[in-house]
Amino acid sequence: MFSDEIYSRINFSETVNTVALTTVADAEKVLSNGHFDISTLPILLSAAAADYLEDMAQIAVQRTRERFGNTVLLYAPLYLSNECSNSCLYCGFSLINKDIHRRTLALSEVEREFIAIQKAGIKHILLVSGEHPAKVNLEYLKEALQIGHTYAASLGIEIYPLETEGYKLLSNSGAETLTIYQETYEERRYGEVHPAGRKKDFFWRLSAPDRAGEAGFRGIGVGSLLGLNENTAADVYFAALHADYLRSRYWRTSINISLPRLKYAANGFNTYAVSDAEYVQYILALRLVLGDVGITLSTREESSLRNNLIGLGITQMSAASKTEPGGYSDEYSGQSGATPQFQVEDSRSVEEVTLMLKSKGIEGLIKDNWRLDFS
Ligand code: SF4
Repeated sequence: MFSDEIYSRINFSETVNTVALTTVADAEKVLSNGHFDISTLPILLSAAAADYLEDMAQIAVQRTRERFGNTVLLYAPLYLSNECSNSCLYCGFSLINKDIHRRTLALSEVEREFIAIQKAGIKHILLVSGEHPAKVNLEYLKEALQIGHTYAASLGIEIYPLETEGYKLLSNSGAETLTIYQETYEERRYGEVHPAGRKKDFFWRLSAPDRAGEAGFRGIGVGSLLGLNENTAADVYFAALHADYLRSRYWRTSINISLPRLKYAANGFNTYAVSDAEYVQYILALRLVLGDVGITLSTREESSLRNNLIGLGITQMSAASKTEPGGYSDEYSGQSGATPQFQVEDSRSVEEVTLMLKSKGIEGLIKDNWRLDFS
């Protein structure tokens, strides 16, 4: 388990100090050496390396092309429910928000969503829900996956942590990828922003990707929610440690990492600002160090930044996303009656995103070609 083998051996506060004490000479040495592994990541994430973005970008472009070719996988999230039994201080779906419009889609409505996403041109679909096992139980998820097979080429889930048996059931029902973000890897901060509910259990969540690996998922995504912790670079480092561990432990599983950035949080929650330049540096550093790990970019980021990050390490991006249950269906469009989880910053259509990628010499894949990788 990541928690025993890696997390218990590396101290979050010491990592913060290591990043803070990095000098320009350290950064120059690593970059001129040209050998990048997880031990060099704190240096690449440090403020001392910020003046070397151009050098890092050149290497990142080359490595992205070598490992992933000129392609980016496009996907869309399908929100099943915005009901949640947790109280995350930063999230609009939190139990503490009494006055939002909550909705769990009926299976007939889930099918309408699949049809709408398929019509929009996306075939890799991620089923997302708030954490409410009573409303979104395993049987419901299994049936939603079965419906999805008619309309999607590949399906993933982003739901509450399960036991290994639960993951096996969903994997056997056709869920190919699991996404689960730790939010912040600092246990103390995690406890502050997750004061109640099942999510309060830091290690239950931390060990979920291991259980998914044991269950045989062919893809697992991990990440940190930037903006929750003032020590952002340390959080990025721990997410990278997690991805690095998973790729060696579950070598038949493709691993993805993502750094969703929380800019405007619900409930008046104060986020820690992460600048665009810092964000770009983190993506570049991840690409240099985690050669064969995919990097996912969400529509939380603005279109101009998303355009600029193409080619620098991104391998998957969401497009034309809706973050409320029922958001895609024509009859509900704009009036789904449910509150979205977050404001989408890049609202371009799939066609517009595909054209943007094409202008940069990148092919936007609408379905995941993983089977080719392992055949
Ligand atoms: S972040 Fe997830 S678990 Fe927390 S309140 Fe929002 S939907 Fe629920």
